[in-house]
Amino acid sequence: MRTAVYPGSFDPVTHGHRDIVERAARLFDRVIVAVGDNPRKKQLLPVDVRVDLLREELAHLENVEVDQFSGLLVDYAKSRDCAIIIRALRAMSDFDAEFQMSVFNTELFPGIETLLLMTDKQYFYLSSSMLKELSSQGGDISRWVCPKVAEALAAKLKDEV
Ligand code: ADP
Repeated sequence: MRTAVYPGSFDPVTHGHRDIVERAARLFDRVIVAVGDNPRKKQLLPVDVRVDLLREELAHLENVEVDQFSGLLVDYAKSRDCAIIIRALRAMSDFDAEFQMSVFNTELFPGIETLLLMTDKQYFYLSSSMLKELSSQGGDISRWVCPKVAEALAAKLKDEV
């Protein structure tokens, strides 16, 4: 069985992420969407909320599982018997960071492969951080996220004020 892991912060999940998972789910028998719980990275939504929102967003995909992990991605991938990492490429700046990460991951886990999927052109400029900014300024983000995500973000940002 061919399994791929798609790691990320997903803070929050957007239609761009969903598009990548839908495409990956057609390429692999099983896709594990792995939400990173990294205390060193400041996130707006707690990891369990990010996981729940992803589960809702991806409920229509039978061969997709949503999980969370902490520590090194390569250790998590090994623990799940998986040697393929999926990431997505948007702007030029993504390439540099992804290349660097894939080199380090291969050093740590020889044989692990990173597959980069091209972001669909309609999501090329979409990022979770931009949506958080827009939402915090009262902008309507409903065309880029599902309603539950928009609600969760608005509620959280209101709490923070
Ligand atoms: P990380 O902090 O690990 O980069 P993100 O949640 O920002 O976590 O991204 C996870 C993965 O999803 C990355 O490979 C990223 O390039 C990809 N991604 C982010 N935004 C989009 C988008 N709009 N369309 C497609 N893929 C995206």
